[in-house]
Amino acid sequence: MTEAADTPQTPDFPRQRGNSYRDTWCGQVLADRVGSQVRVAGWVNRRRDHGGLIFIDLRDRTGIVQLVFDPDDTAADAFALGHKLRSEDVLSVAGSVVERDPEQVNPEIPTGAVEIRVEAAELLADSETPPFTIDAKGTAHVGEEARLRHRYLDLRRSEMQAAIALRARLVRAMREILDAEGFLEIETPVLTRSTPEGARDFLVPSRLQQGSFYALPQSPQLFKQLLMVSGFERYYQVARCFRDEDLRADRQPDFTQLDIEMSFVDVDDVIEANERLLTHVLAAAGIEIEAPFPRITWRDAMSRFGTDRPDTRFGMELVELSEALRETEFRVFRGTLDGGGVVKGMNCGKRDVPRSELDGLISMAQELGAKGLVWAFREGDGWRSPTAKFLTADELSALNAALGAEEGDLLLIVADAPAVANQVLGTMRNRLAERWGEIPEGVNELVWIVDWPLVEWSEEEGRWDALHHPFTSFEGELGDEPGDTLARAYDVVWNGWEIGGGSIRINDPETQRQVLALLGIDAEEAEARFGFLLEALRFGAPPHGGIAYGIDRMVALAAGMDSIRDVIAFPKTASGGDPLTGAPAPVDDRQLRELGVRLNAPPPAPSP
Ligand code: ASP
Repeated sequence: MTEAADTPQTPDFPRQRGNSYRDTWCGQVLADRVGSQVRVAGWVNRRRDHGGLIFIDLRDRTGIVQLVFDPDDTAADAFALGHKLRSEDVLSVAGSVVERDPEQVNPEIPTGAVEIRVEAAELLADSETPPFTIDAKGTAHVGEEARLRHRYLDLRRSEMQAAIALRARLVRAMREILDAEGFLEIETPVLTRSTPEGARDFLVPSRLQQGSFYALPQSPQLFKQLLMVSGFERYYQVARCFRDEDLRADRQPDFTQLDIEMSFVDVDDVIEANERLLTHVLAAAGIEIEAPFPRITWRDAMSRFGTDRPDTRFGMELVELSEALRETEFRVFRGTLDGGGVVKGMNCGKRDVPRSELDGLISMAQELGAKGLVWAFREGDGWRSPTAKFLTADELSALNAALGAEEGDLLLIVADAPAVANQVLGTMRNRLAERWGEIPEGVNELVWIVDWPLVEWSEEEGRWDALHHPFTSFEGELGDEPGDTLARAYDVVWNGWEIGGGSIRINDPETQRQVLALLGIDAEEAEARFGFLLEALRFGAPPHGGIAYGIDRMVALAAGMDSIRDVIAFPKTASGGDPLTGAPAPVDDRQLRELGVRLNAPPPAPSP
């Protein structure tokens, strides 16, 4: 967690107007209150009995304060209550703030120099023994399922409180800067028609028009474009989006985007506005970044890092070796090159890696889809490697030169189809950098990936697919080689995570129809699905473009959390369920009848 994320969340909370529960937040009982009377309320974090005295750590959202129940000061009924208190009971107490004995001072917490000598106390609610203790140790013992089943308790932990508060702070920072730059926050519907972003839709059956369905938006894409046609010029929304995908690690079926659209802009305008936005938002998390961010073309990203989400905090870049091996007679390389494949390598630097680990690297490459992996250490002008004997001295020295290899450097080489070589080496680059401690701590690198191909060929579907979405505009004309057309699209990548992406849009109906046709959507289907957009584009649609960020991922990165589930108050599990509410759940027959929906199979019996 960053420093800012760690600091108490409410140093500038206004002092609370007194009521019967409290007049002071626990975290505000600081040394300047010594000698005053306070009333505080919260949860029993910990209770200790000490030679006739009872110590309670009382917790509210702002922090923890120590209470002392002492028969000399504490009313008899309050003292009796102090004896009975258990963890997570809810309590209100009144008393006087005193300095702690010097040996009792706790420098770890802001209130650590003082304590409250309790005079009166009231139990507001008692708690059963929680299924886990409310700290990282407690939740480490139980699985995530149990944490989510009792999420309201998990959320009491200071780490979760800080993450959720950081999320609120970052979203506030987004609104701050966008409002200041003239953007309007506008809501778009949740019950709507399909908005294609490449995933399956969640559908909601209509009761009033049986047999018809709403789709939940995969993004507000089409509405934000319509808002540009409406002349709002600068729009944003903190928008809930829904994508019914087979859940890959760390995805949520419903998630939150910061969605932005601007009129009369080109790529540079959007990028610059977003560099200001990101600089401001990350500063709210105590993270300093410098704009402008480097821009890497998609082609370069793929060739140097093997991925369109490069982690640029460390080297070990991929190198194309096909040229150095043009004449090679080594069967494996020759066969790959003749078959239209590539040979690519990576210099891992001087590294003492035992044979067993090298075998492990070969298995890793194979698991990732490569046929094999060549490893070598530079030794003199040649290599120490089982593969060295198949290569000529010239080839070895050309490979060493291409890889910039110095004595003792470990070189890893894959020969395969370009996509496979990139995917395998790109993934190994990240994993090995992590394993070998190559990723510098505390460094934040943001880069733009630009000049994306507009479309890619889908073998599976036998047609062109949009790399972003079908509304993306492009450079030049759509010629005979659609695969060579560059989209006016950009993604922003933070330390190897894609946090946002967008494009300049098509703003004339003819071009839009042409792209839909290229994607296999004929005129009739285009009219049926996107007729409203095509029509709107006929009424003076300004040039426009925008971007959307995954807020969950952005906050998780800012909070230093591994999973987006840790920055969402009520997330779903990796299999899309919610152990707390039991969603998704069967519904009763009457509801289905009303909707005109009949199930093919009876619903499964509810689990106990
Ligand atoms: N609608 C796009 C998405 O959800 C973002 C954009 O093009 O603005 O990825």
